[in-house]
Amino acid sequence: MPSSEGRIPLSEPSIGGNAAAYLQECLDTNFVSSVGPFVERFEREFAAAVGARHAVACASGTAALHLAFLVLDVGPGDDVLVADLTFVASINPIVYVGARPILVDAEPATYDMDASLVVAELDRRAAAGERQPAAIELVHLVGHPADIAPVLAAAERYGIPVVEDASEALGATWTKGPLAGRQVGTLGRIAAFSFNGNKLITTGGGGMVVTDDEDLARRARHLSTQARLPGLAYDHDEVGYNYRLTNLAAALGVAQLEELDRLLGARRAIAARYDAAIATIHGVRPAPRAPWADPSFWLYAAALETPDPARRDRILAGLADAGIEARPIWRPIHQTRRYADSARLGGAVADRIFDAALCLPSSSGLTETDQDRVTDALRAVVAQA
Ligand SMILES: *Cc1c(COP(=O)(O)O)cnc(C)c1O
Repeated sequence: MPSSEGRIPLSEPSIGGNAAAYLQECLDTNFVSSVGPFVERFEREFAAAVGARHAVACASGTAALHLAFLVLDVGPGDDVLVADLTFVASINPIVYVGARPILVDAEPATYDMDASLVVAELDRRAAAGERQPAAIELVHLVGHPADIAPVLAAAERYGIPVVEDASEALGATWTKGPLAGRQVGTLGRIAAFSFNGNKLITTGGGGMVVTDDEDLARRARHLSTQARLPGLAYDHDEVGYNYRLTNLAAALGVAQLEELDRLLGARRAIAARYDAAIATIHGVRPAPRAPWADPSFWLYAAALETPDPARRDRILAGLADAGIEARPIWRPIHQTRRYADSARLGGAVADRIFDAALCLPSSSGLTETDQDRVTDALRAVVAQA
């Protein structure tokens, strides 16, 4: 627990409930590795919690995305449209399978991929007789659902699978129209979640593939266990991976899942308090929230009204001096060294968001006293920076 004296972290885990008891159960029964009752239980309960048919537990969110592209048969020579403004783990799995990421600019209202750019690109390729991308990967950034309906419609028109990177947005929902009440990760053909230590729920490290398609789920599970065929005498029909989640990690996952509603509620309450405080801080905008979305607010990303990276950094340094861990949002992928030459669609919206955003401490266990410390410091630092 952060005290009102100590350093306030950006996003730290909140582990309680049955976690210790379930971990002890693994030790008592010697089921510590990737065979054990908690793995299947975590999959079953996770699928039920998000409203999907199948879930496959794996070693990380990155592994989950890799499996998603593998089972969709995305490979060399293929293009994948993906958000430019995201963590690099959204992009690397596209390259693992030999495909080419095409980075799509963000839109200011959600920070997510601009759906109109995706639709225009698919229509343009169709009109020009060009090959369509093999997949479209939507990222629900820092807990805000992407504007998925127009993307799903266009993807269906051209028969392109949609992959959701829901790593940062467990529990976020759409609230309007036919999507009302649907959770992120249940609308595309397949989705990935992450349980890294900084995410809303954690297994230490881990991830989940989620899909309604039984064949995709079966193949993802198969590939995650070295593509080993049933039977005693080690036979394998594909190049597999050692991507299965351990029973120990899954035990933690089951316990964290039992607390999901509480953790989500805490995140949303923190966001509401930030909204109210930031409304009185001149020159700072609250985190995005589209009228059709109920974000999870995994990270609360406020923003300067006028993008200015030097000023952003002065403010972050001022907060650090006050013992508050705040960060920029992800550097747009095209600004990273490895992906500087990537193909891109759109303009400089992602760059402007990067130059403006201030990710504030958002841990589910953040106390009101600590949050007041953050907003008081922000107010003081912004006035001087
Ligand atoms: C955390 C994260 C992932 C997956 O990360 P792992 O650390 O491999 O679990 C993927 N995409 C995004 C956007 C993320 O934030």
